[in-house]
Amino acid sequence: MKKDELIFCPLGGSGEIGMNMNLYAYGNEENRKWIVVDMGVTFADDSIPGVDLIFPDPGFIIDKKEDLLGIILTHAHEDHIGSVSHIWPKLKCKIYATPFTAVLIQEKFKEKKIDISKYLNIVPLNTKIKLDNFEIDFVTLTHSILEPNGLSISTPLGTILHTGDWKIDPNPLIGGNIDEKKLKEIGKKGVSTMICDSTNVFSPGRAGSELDVRKSLLQIMENKSNKILVTSFASNVARMESIFYCAKKTGRSICLVGRSMQRIYKAAKKCGYLGNLLEPIDPRDAGKISKNKILYLATGSQGEPMGAMNRIVNGIHPEVFIEENDCVIFSSKIIPGNEKKLYQLQNLIVKNNIEIITEENAFVHVSGHPNRDDLKDMYSWVKPKCIIPVHGEHRHMKEHVSFAKEMQVPKTLLIENGDIIKLLPGKEPSIVDKAPSGRLYLDGNLNVDVDSKSIKDRKNISINGYLEITLIVSNNGNIKKPVISFKGIPEDSDAENFIFDMEDEIFSICKTFSLQSKNQEKNLIETIKQNCRRIVREKTGKKPFTNINIARI
Ligand SMILES: [Zn+2]
Ligand SMILES: [Zn+2]
Repeated sequence: MKKDELIFCPLGGSGEIGMNMNLYAYGNEENRKWIVVDMGVTFADDSIPGVDLIFPDPGFIIDKKEDLLGIILTHAHEDHIGSVSHIWPKLKCKIYATPFTAVLIQEKFKEKKIDISKYLNIVPLNTKIKLDNFEIDFVTLTHSILEPNGLSISTPLGTILHTGDWKIDPNPLIGGNIDEKKLKEIGKKGVSTMICDSTNVFSPGRAGSELDVRKSLLQIMENKSNKILVTSFASNVARMESIFYCAKKTGRSICLVGRSMQRIYKAAKKCGYLGNLLEPIDPRDAGKISKNKILYLATGSQGEPMGAMNRIVNGIHPEVFIEENDCVIFSSKIIPGNEKKLYQLQNLIVKNNIEIITEENAFVHVSGHPNRDDLKDMYSWVKPKCIIPVHGEHRHMKEHVSFAKEMQVPKTLLIENGDIIKLLPGKEPSIVDKAPSGRLYLDGNLNVDVDSKSIKDRKNISINGYLEITLIVSNNGNIKKPVISFKGIPEDSDAENFIFDMEDEIFSICKTFSLQSKNQEKNLIETIKQNCRRIVREKTGKKPFTNINIARI
């Protein structure tokens, strides 16, 4: 009989920060059951025009959907839940999440007009679920969102700990403290492997506490006599609560600006958080309040074009405006890749004589991921026999391996997306195979491949411009003046020249073809295309994406 094994396979999030998706399987080659832990997105940059979201290619698990027991979500950050509603329709399996995550998941499915209630199982904090041979225990941790859960995954062969995202926050302000006792108990029973967050492995000391940020924010705000605008990550509900706290302490009303800020506020309220706070006022009413009595909390801490901060600073927000001597606090960090647009926004703020406070000149933010001392504590509580770093770029994961070795963790394993790792049985985990893995783009409403034609065409057009020539051919083989149109090709006073040149060229090409029959059409099109592109290139230096139509009348 074939031996049972415990398998781990990351499809996203190992070798990158973002789009986490991890598979675990238990059983033998003939009968293996799977679970998916998290299903996140990553955000596209300007190199992929018209695409915002990227997610892991789920093909490998779609092939096994009959043996899929469910999707388990650790917490509600987009890099962990952002692709669930896009991928789930191909899996149609159960989803397990704690209450706050579940509320946000419901919203995502509602947007896609899918009723997920039959499939969505709400797991109370700090409880276990049993899925076939997997016993999955949700362990409350601390992070930068409500209800971050580590998963202690037990099987007949042993137990592993999947940390999800975490840090040690002694005063998280909202939600439970990190469950050190439970982690130690799990450690005592024996953890063969810990699959662990690597985001902050380069940072010494500790990630820090939300309480300390609150104290610092209050101190900063106490001295301000004009409007204060704070921007932070909407999902950080503890930070949101701190801003409410500061408003109350400084005698200001609070106003939430931006859709996701309102959305998270409502979701947290729905789950029983954020009780006993000031009632936020509507942005339409906030303008009537005197400058020293209002505090805004707005989205757009990364300078996102559609974020509230960007619209406010550029004077295009319908309700909120800022002026000289107001104060903007970025209670956030810069996510790598966003520097350019964020600095642009901050420069504009400074130019308008508005005070700006950021992580660079004050203590206004702490990270949600474990620094080295946090990692060290976690190792000592859980005492894993092996550490497999995830949730990091290659450089983070490599450093995490070195750090774990330095901290005397007996074994480590460096992996990347697609690796199939045998966790148990055996002395130590090892990579045994490779699964197909990659990325999909959400292009409009459709999921497309990285090398899809739609994106290639758009890139091409956006760089080179577009040229379209329609040639009208009558029955007897005569042609009319071709219809030439173009977009995104630079013009100067010679522009007409290249149109005339192309017309001349097309007429002379047509003389060499027999236009009455369709046999030569393909060659004709190709010849016109090549020659017209050459003319445009000679005149303008651009090689446009070119489309030739032949219409017969
Ligand atoms: Zn997270
Ligand atoms: Zn994450």
